Amino acid sequence: MKNFDQSIDAYKEAVDLMPGGVNSPVRAFKSVGMSPIFMESGKGSKIYDIDGNEYIDYVLSWGPLILGHADDRVVSKLQEVAAKGTSFGAPSLIENKLAQLVIDRVPSIEMVRMVNSGTEATMSALRLARGYTGRDKILKFEGNYHGHGDSLLIKAGSGVATLGLPDSPGVPESIAQNTITVPYNDVESVRFAFEQFGEDIAAVIVEPVSGNMGVVPPQNDFLQELRTITEENGTVLIFDEVMTGFRVGYNCAQGHFGVTPDLTCLGKVIGGGLPVGAYGGKREIMERVAPTGPIYQAGTLSGNPLAMTAGYETLTALSEQSYEEINQKVEKLIEGFTQASEEFNIPLQINRAGSMVGVFFSSEPVINYETAQKSNLDHFSQYYRGMIEEGVFLPPSQFEGLFLSTKHTDEDIEKTIQAVKNTFAKIK
Ligand code: PMP
Repeated sequence: MKNFDQSIDAYKEAVDLMPGGVNSPVRAFKSVGMSPIFMESGKGSKIYDIDGNEYIDYVLSWGPLILGHADDRVVSKLQEVAAKGTSFGAPSLIENKLAQLVIDRVPSIEMVRMVNSGTEATMSALRLARGYTGRDKILKFEGNYHGHGDSLLIKAGSGVATLGLPDSPGVPESIAQNTITVPYNDVESVRFAFEQFGEDIAAVIVEPVSGNMGVVPPQNDFLQELRTITEENGTVLIFDEVMTGFRVGYNCAQGHFGVTPDLTCLGKVIGGGLPVGAYGGKREIMERVAPTGPIYQAGTLSGNPLAMTAGYETLTALSEQSYEEINQKVEKLIEGFTQASEEFNIPLQINRAGSMVGVFFSSEPVINYETAQKSNLDHFSQYYRGMIEEGVFLPPSQFEGLFLSTKHTDEDIEKTIQAVKNTFAKIK
């Protein structure tokens, strides 16, 4: 049995200091019935806790670390940049470099604005869509999570789903009533909402692959249909690629699926593990942002040189080939899960897009929030605790995906598959 004494002590101290002892809810490990593990360091595909336990890491800071922990090139550049000053509050060249790279790689982005988190990116993109169209309503999908902005905390995924808090107190009714929610992958419901409210809908915001109710890819022509409907109605289509951006593929989910939105939100990988978000899109819309336009949005630390450097070094380290290599590892891992599922007669649904993988303990295909909810949470939490014992760190929720990095080796995958088998053998 692993020893977690130091983590348990640290948690006791933390609960008096921070709500739930954490700075972000899912880190409290509530849904898996264990005390949170405090981490100390990471290198490549491995992460180490303060009791000295080693894990193969499939959380990767919830997605950003596509090069694994403490990549040598990223760290050495960060050291070099930090020594020259950590923030200027004035433009710096690295901002141009990262902006150019994002514009080159993301089909929808002609201009971009850097912010500090995914939440800021989606909040700002919504304000822009509302300001641009002069309309108030937005349409989002059940189980999609777009950060914790008021308009978007309605039937959201991620920690909101994990903790079973569908609508947060503190979001005024006057704001909530402007958010329309419909099931993911359900074009008919979108059409129906547009028949009723079409002229008032400023934006449709969607995770092009949903990663916050577990991983749920778009079915059939879902994204293309959204493109058509929004075009017909003069509505801004926003892809929230905070998770999928530079994760699902070299040109993000929009490149992968061949559907180009009007605006795109980015975060996670674009900051290489430092706090970054971004939103961008058509020049005509982006020019409405201050100071060229009247729609206000600003940030003391936006475009921060350390964050821009981590993002730039991460993105330039990735080639199309890198994605293919990660994908091969993903396929091997999925094969292992499938074998284990058959061998131990534990029904699984495995959804996948690039190196985002959703393993649901369910015998029914998972295509939206309702079907994701049918997962066996008791099996998940037994599996979760078993995997921790085996030295595999996974997101502590059935409703989050796992990620791979360029540093995950064949040996990591083999060990993980063995761990799954050992764990499944014990599930009751
Ligand atoms: N959008 C999506 C799709 C996300 O997955 C997340 C975070 N998991 C966010 C927005 C919010 O990003 P942040 O946590 O950086 O505010």
